[in-house]
Amino acid sequence: MTAAPTTNQRAGSLDALTELIADGEVVVLSGAGLSTDSGIPDYRGATGSLRRHTPMTYQTFTRDPRGRHRYWARSYVGWRQIRGARPNDGHRAVGDLQAAGLVDAVITQNVDGLHQAGGATGVVELHGGLDRTVCLNCGDVAGRAELDVRLRAANPTFGPRVDEVNPDGDAELPDELLDGFVMVGCLACGDGPLKPDVVFFGETVPRDRVEQCFALVEGAASLLVLGSSLTVMSGYRFVLHAAKLGIPVAIVNSGPTRGDAKADVRIDSPLGVVLPELARRLAG
Ligand SMILES: [Zn+2]
Repeated sequence: MTAAPTTNQRAGSLDALTELIADGEVVVLSGAGLSTDSGIPDYRGATGSLRRHTPMTYQTFTRDPRGRHRYWARSYVGWRQIRGARPNDGHRAVGDLQAAGLVDAVITQNVDGLHQAGGATGVVELHGGLDRTVCLNCGDVAGRAELDVRLRAANPTFGPRVDEVNPDGDAELPDELLDGFVMVGCLACGDGPLKPDVVFFGETVPRDRVEQCFALVEGAASLLVLGSSLTVMSGYRFVLHAAKLGIPVAIVNSGPTRGDAKADVRIDSPLGVVLPELARRLAG
């Protein structure tokens, strides 16, 4: 067991991080920890399903119409929370560092769109985004907000009772209620089943997107990991790639990560504290 870092050690690490980021050409790799301050419950890696539930797999979603139906019923309720989320100081600090010319690109494992809302540009959404749907029949990509309008029209009385909503906005809905939800299909092809445009467990990240991220890492002077425990290989492989190429890796995360042994700079502190301070030093 490792002792918690002392204040002096943490200050030393922050100085080392500041030096590294000051050199510029930084590529950010971010995870769920960056969005928890925005009230987004921690997502378990590549999934659009909230942690409390068994993560939806690609196989269940595509092969089990009833499982898919229940996913959409829960998502319909959970969408209120996602839609209402706002970027936090950490997202804004990344946007500020990018505006200062120090961050070249952002690769995110998050599907909430909050980097972009916080001012970041050129964001690669490794696991897709909840703001879009894709048709499993014709491949048409459409906006989630438009779908919500259609779903509200199709479900004028559907919704959880207040005592079924948890403090974080997640809803534990009984199966009978979920079955009463009315789902709609793709408008482009008539009735194709819709999937959120996110990468589920059991689904691979599109190859061209992975190649794009590898290329970004190869062109970086350093890789800055924010708020990810790196348990999912889809993100961890970029840390391995950077380390193999001798590109310095910095990790800021509350709690241990799988990449700690590969990190040149490691700060175990809340992002909401570290990132605004970093932006103040470098982009103020
Ligand atoms: Zn379609």
